[in-house]
Amino acid sequence: MTTRLLQNISKAAVLAGGIAGVSLTYRYQEVKKVQSNLPKTELWSFKNSSTKDKKNVVIIGGGVVGITSAYKLATNGHKVVLLEPRSQPGKECSACAAGGMQKSNPVVDRGTWIAVTKSFLPFARDKHEQYKFFHIDWFKSVTDPFFLRWSLKFTKTSLFPDSNQEYLQQEMLKFTDYAVDDMIILMETKRDLMPKVSGYNPNGSLSLSYDPLPKEESTIKVNNPAAAGKTYEPSRQIIGKDITVQEPSILHQKIQPQSAKHEYKSRAASSERFTEELARRCEEDPNLDVTFLYNTRVEDANTTTSSDDEKCRVTKLLTNRGGIDVGDAEVLVAAGAWCPKITAHFGLYCPVYPLKGYAMSISAKQVLASTSLKESDLPSRIVSDKYMYTSRLGDEIRITSIGEFSGWSTQSTPEGELDRGLLCQLLLPCSHRSSLVEQEFRREAIRQFPQLKAFIKDAKVKCGHRPYVSDGILLLGRVPSFSNLLVSAGPGSNGWKLAMGSGEIILKLISGLTEDDISKLGFDAHSFSPAGRVLHAPLFTKLCQARWGVEEYVGEKKDSITEDLS
Ligand SMILES: Cc1cc2nc3c(=O)[nH]c(=O)nc-3n(C[C@H](O)[C@H](O)[C@H](O)COP(=O)(O)OP(=O)(O)OC[C@H]3O[C@@H](n4cnc5c(N)ncnc54)[C@H](O)[C@@H]3O)c2cc1C
Repeated sequence: MTTRLLQNISKAAVLAGGIAGVSLTYRYQEVKKVQSNLPKTELWSFKNSSTKDKKNVVIIGGGVVGITSAYKLATNGHKVVLLEPRSQPGKECSACAAGGMQKSNPVVDRGTWIAVTKSFLPFARDKHEQYKFFHIDWFKSVTDPFFLRWSLKFTKTSLFPDSNQEYLQQEMLKFTDYAVDDMIILMETKRDLMPKVSGYNPNGSLSLSYDPLPKEESTIKVNNPAAAGKTYEPSRQIIGKDITVQEPSILHQKIQPQSAKHEYKSRAASSERFTEELARRCEEDPNLDVTFLYNTRVEDANTTTSSDDEKCRVTKLLTNRGGIDVGDAEVLVAAGAWCPKITAHFGLYCPVYPLKGYAMSISAKQVLASTSLKESDLPSRIVSDKYMYTSRLGDEIRITSIGEFSGWSTQSTPEGELDRGLLCQLLLPCSHRSSLVEQEFRREAIRQFPQLKAFIKDAKVKCGHRPYVSDGILLLGRVPSFSNLLVSAGPGSNGWKLAMGSGEIILKLISGLTEDDISKLGFDAHSFSPAGRVLHAPLFTKLCQARWGVEEYVGEKKDSITEDLS
């Protein structure tokens, strides 16, 4: 009986494996067919014209990371060609950032892993927690070999970190300090337009807690100078009325917070407007040699291997508008959460997966003009709690939240699509099988700012993918197995505030400095290196391309087009 059962199970497994194999082969061939139909015309050629002082660089991706790198390179005399599928810069993840510029970093550790996992398993969730921050589309995720590989490393780093993980986090904190200072210099340069354009706000932040205070803390204010190596932001704990004295907009909340961490020096600005402004400077300043190729999407690539040092080299990028002859140029992949899809064309695995976030913006002027609310009723700085992050960026009140694993679509998740899949059918009660994430996001925003209810209901919700690196450490530097390839992505929820710093590192590497030279700036630049993390994996990347299939390309294009038009 048992033997027959085992035989039947193995037959079924072989059959399922066979069907999966045939289907993946078919899907891969379809992808190849689309790639072979790309236009053969030459869109750009570098013709080996770089000199020691003026290098040629192709940047893939026009988000805050790509544009800031272009700006840094061009202001130092290099020639840049930037490829971006949308018709404007900064319209993907960079258009969704809350804008926080704190000198601290969220890290991948046991606590984060448990929080993520608990929220995916409803029976393990805290019953008192009303709001669900993490979401997952089980089907899209667990059937994607890329997600499985990514999550293995995420789990390993969280639960069984390597002995140097804490060191890497420390070095990233030192780098964050350096990178944020670089941004502050630009924001605080007299007569520069940037602070006004990007809604720079140096009013600090308040992180609210609704948990009852332990007795010994209920009467004292704890001065908490930046210490313990976890943050460089000075802060103090405030309680009771002091919170609403600092931030009167909170008075409207039905249940008042018990305490708040007041980071009185932290800053914020709009990543989207910052990106647009830098792109404008690159375009309008005749001294900056930057060519923007918008509506241009990298869909395939050619590489060769040198017989001298056995290093590979990117020779051609194939786009929907024609080929880019790379010549002697360096290639920087700065495509945020899309980096793995681009490096797959080079046969490389890049450990970044999209963690989708939701954002909405409300105009303060409009609120004040159409209601009886006063300026003091509106948030004046970063106001956050465990799961929602609101910032005041000039006229803009920006509300952000949600962490969702559901592939690469930038549309908000419609009802019924989420939490589906085989695993879910087995594990989840009916009530959890579908949820309207966008509705949940609006509901929570209204709980925090009930005075803005009418505006929150009507605001357009945008989605962006945090480029989440599986070990939580920024990916920044040269890919050692290539002679002309660099990557700048991640680490997840704080890439905007690092953009000036990461652009500076890219500039230094392209100008010929080594990671040892760069480390003299006060952090270990080796810590962020793609070495040992961006891996040669030609078979695996083909498998992923087959799984992603043609629909993902078409789906993504549709996303971009719909959002660009709206
Ligand atoms: C809700 C939310 C809140 C956040 N809050 C903060 C915060 O407070 N502070 C902070 O520092 N960070 C924050 N972040 C993170 C920050 O937004 C990102 O780290 C940053 O915007 C990433 O920038 P990027 O340029 O790498 O990626 P993106 O902005 O996504 O840009 C990548 C670009 O690559 C392009 N691209 C994709 N495919 C291709 C292709 N095939 N060919 C060419 N180009 C391609 C895309 O069109 C896109 O324009 C937040 C993110 C979210 C979602």
